Parts: sequence; C-alpha cells; structure tokens
Amino acid sequence: MIKMAIYGKGGIGKSTTASNIAAAFAQNGMRVMQIGCDPKADSTVNLRGGGSVPTVLELIRERGAALTLEELVTPGFAGVLCVEAGGPAPGLGCAGRGIIAAMEKLKEKRAFEIYKPDAVIYDVLGDVVCGGFAMPIREGYANKVFVVTSGENMALHAAANIAEAVANFRSRGYATLGGIILNRRNVPREEEKVAELASDVGTKIVGALDFSPTVQRAEEISKTVLEAFPESEMAGEYRELARRLLAACGE
Ligand code: ATP
Ligand code: MG
Repeated sequence: MIKMAIYGKGGIGKSTTASNIAAAFAQNGMRVMQIGCDPKADSTVNLRGGGSVPTVLELIRERGAALTLEELVTPGFAGVLCVEAGGPAPGLGCAGRGIIAAMEKLKEKRAFEIYKPDAVIYDVLGDVVCGGFAMPIREGYANKVFVVTSGENMALHAAANIAEAVANFRSRGYATLGGIILNRRNVPREEEKVAELASDVGTKIVGALDFSPTVQRAEEISKTVLEAFPESEMAGEYRELARRLLAACGE
C-alpha cells in the first residue's frame, strides 16, 4: 500500500494536487483513499462535485458509539474514497488534536484493513507542524511525504519547516521525505529557488505543475481537472506527476 502525505503552505495547491493525483491513480485501476486533514474539510470537495460530507469529528460527536465505518467514507469521482477529518469550530479547541482523534477513529474502525486501498493520500496543512498536523508523518499512517511549493518565499519557508519536521522523526522509522512538487506561480528564478531548497533538505523535485487557468475553470464547477477537462494539457501534467509519485514511492 502506498501511503503518501501532501504537505505545503496554506493555499499553495495541496488539495487540488492531491485530488487530481487521486483521480489519476483511480483511473489507472487503483483503489484510492484521500484523507483531508484540514479543519476546513474541503480537501475532497472537487472529487464530489462540490457536495460536503460529514467529517469524522462531527460523526464522533453526533453518532458516538453507533458510528460505522461506512459513514466515515464517501465515494467520489472515479471511486476515490473520500474522508474529511474535520475540526473544532474556529477559535474553539485544538485543530491538531482533532486530527489525532480522527486518525485514531479510522484506525479503530479498521478503515485500511477493510477498504484495502492501494494508495492513501493525506492532504495536510503545512503552516503549523504541531503534533496533530504531524500525525500523518508518525505512527505508520503515511510513509512518504511530498511537499508542494512554489518559488514564493513563504511557501519555501513552510516547505523547509516540514522537511525539518520529517527529519526529526526519521530515527523512529516514520515517514521519509519523498520529494518536492513544484506548483508554479511564475515568480522570478522559481525553478532555481525550489531546486536550491530541495538540495538544502536533501531531496529532489519529483514533479512540476504549470500555473494554469484550466485548474480554476475546473474548480469553478467543483471538479478535478481530470474529470472536467480530461483531454487538457493540465490533465496530462497531473497524470505525469501521478506516475512520478508512484516511482518515488518505489512502485
Ligand atoms: P489550503 O491550505 O487552504 O487547504 P491548498 O494548499 O489545499 O489550500 P488549493 O485549495 O488546492 O490549496 O488551491 C488554492 C487555489 O489555487 C485554488 O483556487 C486552486 O484552484 C488554485 N491552484 C492550485 N494549483 C493551481 C495551478 N497549478 N494552476 C492554477 N491554479 C491553481
Ligand atoms: Mg486544502
């Protein structure tokens, strides 16, 4: 089973990238589960045509012991299994702790043994790397971390922090850094700056995506690019990235 976590600065393109990769894997015959670890609970929205799903935390609160695994998992485009961890109301409670509770619930309900996904993709915010947001790196959830960044300074800074967090867990046999995904914003010296960061943290750029209006047009209708514009150049870029990520995971 491939278990990858996609980290990166807020708004850098994690959910869009994760969803398109998930769709590409699924269209190649893989059984895929995408787990949104963001209190906004919008990771998988474009895999579900804009519909919202009850989050794991909401279900824990509302259903208690009666909660079933089927309630936690909603099939989306190409059969991708969509899960949203959810979070506390803004300002009330700790988002990181919410992610821990959600992950533990999935484990307790034996989600991975029962659905047997070929690939699990965790979509995780990278501005905060507290215990909760680092959870998918630890305890055998994900084993490869990919960091999405552009050449913008804030994005590079977040990427460096995440790489450091991963390095801190390395000795315990947790996830390792799989590489950097360059999501272009067309800033000056972008490739060079991102390559420099990759080399600083001892990894490589595994794939690159152009900044494309096709992505926004697909988002406008709450779809992945693979679903909305399967023949587009951008869909080709996501498919190529999906291939490269599999290779980086040793598949
Ligand atoms: P958050 O941290 O808030 O969860 P995120 O990292 O998941 O954000 P997304 O929601 O995937 O980021 O993307 C942010 C915005 O950038 C979206 O409007 C998305 O359509 C756009 N976007 C992402 N990648 C690209 C791209 N390659 N070309 C054009 N627009 C893009
Ligand atoms: Mg997101």
